[in-house]
Amino acid sequence: MRQQRGRASTIFRWMFSALIVVYSGYSGCCVVQHPTRLRAPTTILSNTCHTFVPLNHTHQGLLRIRFDRRFTFHETMTMQQTYDWISVLGLQPVTVFREGEEHLFVSWWRNNQPNDSVIGYYPTATNKIYIDTSRLMNTFQIQNTFMHELGHWLGMGHVCRFPLERGHRDRPVLCSPVGYGITMMNPSVEYLLPVLPTYLDILELRRVLECDR
Ligand SMILES: [Zn+2]
Repeated sequence: MRQQRGRASTIFRWMFSALIVVYSGYSGCCVVQHPTRLRAPTTILSNTCHTFVPLNHTHQGLLRIRFDRRFTFHETMTMQQTYDWISVLGLQPVTVFREGEEHLFVSWWRNNQPNDSVIGYYPTATNKIYIDTSRLMNTFQIQNTFMHELGHWLGMGHVCRFPLERGHRDRPVLCSPVGYGITMMNPSVEYLLPVLPTYLDILELRRVLECDR
């Protein structure tokens, strides 16, 4: 990443803006970043759809997930423990092991930039989410980050806890119009508690699915 930035800042900006990232750090926050949102001068309550249609996934029914073998057994098990939570969203997750069988690939990743607090991200319009488990503090944060990125992969945006909520580096957050409250899509990733999908998450998923039609 550092080399890309040095060689071609324009390309880097384009690439970086295409990522939806989760940051760790004290507040464990995350920020949706793509060109429209980066240009926003203040927090915007969106009335329009901002969806990314993931590749190779079905909105309803079976959801085949493959985990990178570089995750430890415990890390993979920890993420698989969220399967009951995912079913709340109307999906039936199952683990697959063969390359190419998956709808979603959960990739092991290490962010090697020492001063960068990115712990996970979803590159727009792909079937992968990336998680740096070395930067995650505990089981809850692994599970909550996994669910959060999976939500982005499904097309979900951020649901804010309160109006004008700000995210990483005090940047404005584009809040979903579905309402405010605790959800798996909060800009700040909770690490003290497990955050199961809430009614607001279901509303947000319904909202983006309607956008796709
Ligand atoms: Zn996010």
